Amino acid sequence: ARPWDFFTATQTLEHLPPPEGIEVALAGRSNVGKSSLTNALSGQKALARVSVTPGRTKQLNFFRAEGQPLVLVDMPGYGYAKASKLVKEDWQGLMFDYLRGRPNLRRVLLLMDARIETKSSDRAVMTLLDKAAVPFQLVITKSDGVKPNDLAKRLADVQALARKHPAGHPLVLVTSAETGAGMEELRAELAALAGQ
Ligand code: GDP
Repeated sequence: ARPWDFFTATQTLEHLPPPEGIEVALAGRSNVGKSSLTNALSGQKALARVSVTPGRTKQLNFFRAEGQPLVLVDMPGYGYAKASKLVKEDWQGLMFDYLRGRPNLRRVLLLMDARIETKSSDRAVMTLLDKAAVPFQLVITKSDGVKPNDLAKRLADVQALARKHPAGHPLVLVTSAETGAGMEELRAELAALAGQ
C-alpha cells in the first residue's frame, strides 16, 4: 500500500480544500469502525485516530494518497444516541451540502457493522445519498466479530438494501480491520475509481 497523508480538516463548507483529485468519502454510524478501517486500508496504524468517545469528531478529515489522485474524506459518524437533535440536524445539513455540491466526489463508502442490524439512521443516510445522487457502496465492517452464518445473513440483508436504493452500488464489500479481510478488494475498488 502507498503511504497516506492527512492534509486538512474542516467543520464548515467555506473551508473545504479545492476539489482536486478524486474524492471517496467514508461514512457510517459512530463506532462502526471507520478509523480502524482507514488505518488498516492505509497500512498506517495511527493515520485516523481510533475514537475513545464515540460521536466526538464533528469534522471532515481529508487524507490523500501519495502517487495517485485519490483523496479519502472521513465524515463525522452519525446516529450517536446521545447527540442532541440540533447536532443531528447539523450533520444532515452540512453533509447534504457537501455530498450534493462536491464536484470531484466519486463515491461514498457507507460502513455497516457486521454485528449490528441496520438502523433508521443508516436508512436516512441512504435516502440522503439517493437525493444527492451520489453513488454509494456498502462496506460491512468487523466481519471477524460474527459467526459465518450470521455474517452470511447480514450480507444478504445489506445486499438487498443496496439493490433497493437507486444510488446503491450492487457490490457489497465484507471487511475486517482486525484480520485484514476484504482489504485488498477495497484497495482495488479505490484504485479503479482513481483510474489506476
Ligand atoms: P469509528 O468511531 O467509526 O471511527 O470506529 P473505531 O475505528 O474507533 O472503532 C470502534 C470500535 O470498534 C473500537 O473499539 C475498535 O477496536 C472496534 N473495531 C474496529 N474495527 C474492528 C474490527 O475489524 N473487528 C473488531 N472485532 N473490532 C473492531
